Amino acid sequence: MKTVAITGKQSCKIVKKQVPKAKDDYVVVKIHTAPLCTEYTDYRDGCTRAEFKRGDESPDCLGHEAAGEVVEIAQPGKVKVGDRVVVMPGFWCGKCRFCLSGEYIHCQNPPNPLTHCGCEAGVAAYAEYCLKQDWLLLPIPDGMSYDHASMACCGLGPAFNSMQTMEVCGHDTVLVAGTGPVGLGAVICATYRGARVICLGRNPYRTKLALKLGAEAVLDPQDKNIKQQIFDLTDGEGASKSVETTGYHLYMDVVMKSTRRMGQVAIVGEGGEYPLHISDGLIRTGLQLHGIWHWNLADAPDMMRMIGRVGGKLDTVITHHFPLDQIEKAWQLQMTGQCGKVIINP
Ligand SMILES: [Zn+2]
Ligand SMILES: [Zn+2]
Repeated sequence: MKTVAITGKQSCKIVKKQVPKAKDDYVVVKIHTAPLCTEYTDYRDGCTRAEFKRGDESPDCLGHEAAGEVVEIAQPGKVKVGDRVVVMPGFWCGKCRFCLSGEYIHCQNPPNPLTHCGCEAGVAAYAEYCLKQDWLLLPIPDGMSYDHASMACCGLGPAFNSMQTMEVCGHDTVLVAGTGPVGLGAVICATYRGARVICLGRNPYRTKLALKLGAEAVLDPQDKNIKQQIFDLTDGEGASKSVETTGYHLYMDVVMKSTRRMGQVAIVGEGGEYPLHISDGLIRTGLQLHGIWHWNLADAPDMMRMIGRVGGKLDTVITHHFPLDQIEKAWQLQMTGQCGKVIINP
């Protein structure tokens, strides 16, 4: 099967690997949709992440979001051949407190699926086939496309959990920091629950998308009076709840200063640092901070129902499709920021 290898800074190639084989509760999924996520930074920088420092020049771990069709099972279990499924990210033990409570993303004992199944490939989503434990596959309702269903991964996932955790509702004005794919997903999730949304963003292409998805305003976090602009839009209080999706200090600072007293902040954007003054920044603002990575598997019925109801908005957020052979073109597009969520159709 075809899969992708990054071969250096802004250089990649399609490589052939063996199709994986099902074993125990690991099944084989033929991938129809693989949304692009953070891996473009590996392409841009040449695989500098810790996962890649194993002496492997063509790591089989590119891509962690997918939807497709079950084509092989090794034993009767939670899925059968022909089932249409969303492929949840990662591989997890299935036995620890986090796995058992649906918070598998925090599992501390992840298995090695390639060792377990004796396969040379099957971990990556930018490939024609992948392996997955059957309990990490969500059934796709009839009539829902693979592209829409795949948004249950990072397209909507971290934003969805932010809304669940903060119990966002129609009383809220949600400040969404960042208008990249995750921020745009947050606009969809917040407006779905009836909340008003104000965004922070600086990319005109994505500003248009955010407004089309229902954001009331997209403000520039670099404006000197940005806090005042947000307070003017929120009866002088500040946003009741905020979602930070960028990982940048600039955005985080606006969020922390423009969320109202006793409000809540969900932090989704990875990578940055933010110094927090314990008294003035936390105790005396009464802010609740939530680190949000993924979402709870037990909420899958609500996630899939939401995807069914917001389908048209997903067609706004998904701006480009590429075949697997053109993944380099897709990554170069992502580097420009002139896109929403980009999808690979292997
Ligand atoms: Zn576990
Ligand atoms: Zn992702």
